[in-house]
Amino acid sequence: MATTTIDITGLAGAAETELSARVGMLPNVASERTKRLQGRIAGAKPVTSVCGYCAVGCSTLAYVSDDGTLLDVEGNPESPINGGHLCPKGSALFGLTVNDQRWTTVKYRAPYADRYEERPLAWALERIAQRIRETREATFVRERDGKRVNHTLGISSLGGATFGVEENYLLGKFMHALGVVSIENQARI
Ligand code: SF4
Repeated sequence: MATTTIDITGLAGAAETELSARVGMLPNVASERTKRLQGRIAGAKPVTSVCGYCAVGCSTLAYVSDDGTLLDVEGNPESPINGGHLCPKGSALFGLTVNDQRWTTVKYRAPYADRYEERPLAWALERIAQRIRETREATFVRERDGKRVNHTLGISSLGGATFGVEENYLLGKFMHALGVVSIENQARI
């Protein structure tokens, strides 16, 4: 089979630039905006991390300055899972972490109230435990149609999409021990 060889070593200046552009070999094709964004993380240390939004487990690079300030989060190009890409949720990881509008305290809205109050986390956990116990005791069924069922239909469980295998295992054990049969995970919804 005949082959064609093109020698470009003699090309220079505009011709070289034109050819390089056509085959995607320009030395730096970044736009001015991209260069500005790259400047934001200049000198920052990339720390390998994992997106916490879902169980796909995309790898990220968290860019951290010398004083420990998080400057940016990008997809990790060396990851065999995501190859540097992040979905829209993962692309918002920086805003999840650095966001002055993010709620960091427990908000509680009492029945019939029209506004939320701030409550301590320990109070919220205790209240949730009380409500689970009250609901279970009020709705637990030992037998149905002559068969032992030992369950409650008054409680359901919705696990978070970021739960790992061990967390899901523990949540499942806990719910089954209570007699909860409506168990779902956000990743399936
Ligand atoms: S939320 Fe998106 S970026 Fe994060 S792990 Fe899942 S697929 Fe990857």
